Amino acid sequence: NISDLRPVIRQLDEGAINRIAAGEVVERPASAVKELVENALDAGARRVTIDIADGGKTLIRVTDDGCGIAGHDLALALSRHATSKIDGSDLLNIHTFGFRGEALPSLGAVGRLSISSRVPGADAYQIKVEGGAMGTVRPVALNAGTVVTLGDLFYATPARLKFMRTDRAEAQAITDIIKRLAMAEPFVRFELRDISNDSPRTVFVAEAQSGDMFDALHGRLATVLGREFADNALAIDAERDGLHLTGYAALPTYSRGSAVAQYLFVNGRPVRDKLLVGALRGAYFDFLSRDRHPAAALFLDCDPTLVDVNVHPAKSEVRFRDPALARGLIVSALRHALAGAGHRASSTVAG
Ligand code: ADP
Ligand code: MG
Repeated sequence: NISDLRPVIRQLDEGAINRIAAGEVVERPASAVKELVENALDAGARRVTIDIADGGKTLIRVTDDGCGIAGHDLALALSRHATSKIDGSDLLNIHTFGFRGEALPSLGAVGRLSISSRVPGADAYQIKVEGGAMGTVRPVALNAGTVVTLGDLFYATPARLKFMRTDRAEAQAITDIIKRLAMAEPFVRFELRDISNDSPRTVFVAEAQSGDMFDALHGRLATVLGREFADNALAIDAERDGLHLTGYAALPTYSRGSAVAQYLFVNGRPVRDKLLVGALRGAYFDFLSRDRHPAAALFLDCDPTLVDVNVHPAKSEVRFRDPALARGLIVSALRHALAGAGHRASSTVAG
């Protein structure tokens, strides 16, 4: 009987709200790593070191040499919807990876989080939050920048813990994220270390590149995608109606049997976007047989008002104001480069 239902509407407490939000933002250790490394990059870091143990399940530690967080801001940084990156007046004009102010409170709700930080000219401070309960701000020893430690991810949400894959699979997902971010930031040094046992192991290291953007990117792609990719890649540099496309696209002869080597970025943000992947495929259509996939690392840059990154907290999708323009630019720039390199349409595939 419906009159037996006496629903009581209540306001959830901050802890419950944060745990719910965490389910959106932090799907697995790699998403926590992504949020923390993006924070380091937003802070202007030139060196980012990521230590993980047990696939990131028991420990993730991100150390950066960025601008730091002042002691009196540490508690605020951990509270929901608190951010230094936007003031809320212009959600279309975003120049940073972060802007929602959700990552740190979410991580603090589902793991044991500790932040140590120092701004130039001040002392260093630390704050801890476990399962949503915030401790007090204390002095700590730290030379510069920020160290964020996340222990026992999802210990506070056992259901989520069950969905973790093997340490190996989670570590692989973390490596993939680091490599994507490293491609977007060739002037920054990245190091990923596995400290699961007594002898720490460097999993991936990308030294800071120098020179102009193309030199730096080429060097970084050689580190991340391999010498062979770099040696077979054509530089792409094209512009149309405020949309700028740069990067490297591999010759058809370097094509792969799967789409693993396709990296797309919009305003420096790694994205997985059907429209852009489709455009890449379309550009190579006449140059590759159907079972081959192009390899490329492409960067679309435009005024932030021309693209909406505010689609989902995981932020891997984007929405262009003019999708046809983005597609057209990619297809024409790549076809032009491939034709210029002497690659004639060789496909026997019917259209
Ligand atoms: P968002 O990145 O969306 O602003 P976060 O919850 O990730 O939200 O971080 C909250 C705030 O804490 C940031 O806006 C920034 O001011 C500060 N912060 C977080 N990580 C760092 C860092 N590594 N270095 C300097 N400041 C940081
Ligand atoms: Mg952030």
